[in-house]
Amino acid sequence: MIDPAAVVLHVADVRRRIEAAGGDDRVRLVAVTKGFGPEAVAAAVAAGVADVGESYAQEAVAKWPAVAEPRPRLHFIGHLQSNKVRALAPFVDLWQSIDRPSVGDEVARRRPGAHVLVQVNVSDEPQKGGCEPSRTGALVAHLRAAGLVVDGLMCIGLAGGPQAARPGFRLLRSLADDLSLAERSMGMTDDLEAAVQEGATMVRVGTALFGPRPGRAQGAH
Ligand SMILES: *Cc1c(COP(=O)(O)O)cnc(C)c1O
Repeated sequence: MIDPAAVVLHVADVRRRIEAAGGDDRVRLVAVTKGFGPEAVAAAVAAGVADVGESYAQEAVAKWPAVAEPRPRLHFIGHLQSNKVRALAPFVDLWQSIDRPSVGDEVARRRPGAHVLVQVNVSDEPQKGGCEPSRTGALVAHLRAAGLVVDGLMCIGLAGGPQAARPGFRLLRSLADDLSLAERSMGMTDDLEAAVQEGATMVRVGTALFGPRPGRAQGAH
């Protein structure tokens, strides 16, 4: 159940956390609404949030047309399969999880000139999405050649809290700097302070805004 008044308070709490970690109002808050219905998107918008993240293609495609205008910017942040790109293409404003050439090619085909982030597997976890850090530059070059606009990099921190995640955030920062990429999407409910301290320009926060997710979207994806 979404309580819009509580979401307003939670957004203020998260902004305070960002500020306490040294971030200012240029750090963009992406409200992650996976697992909740369009009422969570509406509550985020009513609380002043302009950016919303979704992780599951089918869920996002079903939900988005039910979101009232004016809609926030939609960030696709979950594992992306090429065969889901077509259905998502009309709705997605920033593709955050591009981690291989084939899926980038499909986005370029369905949404020429789209803005993307390259997801990097900064914690060397085989089950996690993201390109290998050493391949980031080549993937960025490939996506640009396909006509996409690469705004920056994204990662999911190693689970286990801020100290576990911090080295990965630091690595993402240095890769983005090496490639002169401005955006660094990193940090979630449990590790956003470490991410902001290490230079996040965008944090993706679900649980701290909406509470625990019902059903299958419980775990971080
Ligand atoms: C679910 C998810 C989040 C939000 O996680 P919380 O811990 O609920 O804040 C952020 N990023 C990605 C990629 C996710 O899948």
